[in-house]
Amino acid sequence: MTDYASTDQAVPEAGARPADGNDAAVDLVVRVRGAYRTFERDTAPVRALRGADLDVARGEFVAVMGPSGCGKSTLLNLIAGLDSPDEGFVSVADLDLTKMDENALAIMRRSHIGIVFQFFNLLEGMTVLENVVMPALIAGVKRKPAETRARDLLDLLGLGDKARQAPATLSGGQRQRLAIARALANEPTLVLADEPTGALDSEGGEEVLELFRRLHSGGQTILLVTHDQPVADAAQRLVRMRDGRVIDHGGREPDVEPDGETQPVAAPA
Ligand code: ADP
Repeated sequence: MTDYASTDQAVPEAGARPADGNDAAVDLVVRVRGAYRTFERDTAPVRALRGADLDVARGEFVAVMGPSGCGKSTLLNLIAGLDSPDEGFVSVADLDLTKMDENALAIMRRSHIGIVFQFFNLLEGMTVLENVVMPALIAGVKRKPAETRARDLLDLLGLGDKARQAPATLSGGQRQRLAIARALANEPTLVLADEPTGALDSEGGEEVLELFRRLHSGGQTILLVTHDQPVADAAQRLVRMRDGRVIDHGGREPDVEPDGETQPVAAPA
């Protein structure tokens, strides 16, 4: 059994390779153009996103940083298909999310997105194993292959001996590793994480960080929001946001016109 947290083994993922630099042939997993999102509040509307642009290429590990309230989670939610922009374009794996209804977004999430939250969002009444089996069952995978994949993931992530335990018996770092195993259950195109180390002590944070590094070296595309400098340092590229926009793309500039107008994006077939 492999303890994923303490070996150099990377989680394998077929066909994915890290991508560097701007390359015309680059395979973009995420494309956000001119995204606006305003939340109506009793007092005054909150303009959470004000023309955000972002590209993430297949195999990239991108960290997003910025002051609290600058729109990081809102941007992540648009890419996850959990929310929709008021204006602008969002695509994941060449699927135009802005043209999808709730049902289509749910299907897109199941097939392309694995999400990791700050507070784990585990199913506490179920075993560790069932937490990883469940997303595959929901996606229509039969129990046996779902369990086999879940056991493999738990082994890879160093939780194989915890399969029958309740999540509550795990340490913080182990709980977040379980949440990551669950996010990987359906072999997502993209792993999204919102402050994945925010609720962990430094040891738990390091465990989770090491896991993200290994996932990335195995070719997994990762986009995470963090306040944690070591997490940002581990990423291949750091994107900075401010006031609802990406102000520094960290080296992969989207194809946006100088006046802020976005270039037309071909509608996916
Ligand atoms: P960050 O992740 O950078 O801290 P958020 O994207 O969470 O920022 O929030 C940006 C702004 O939008 C904040 O002022 C926040 O309070 C507001 N906001 C986010 N989600 C909602 C919502 N569902 N309803 C109302 N306001 C929201």
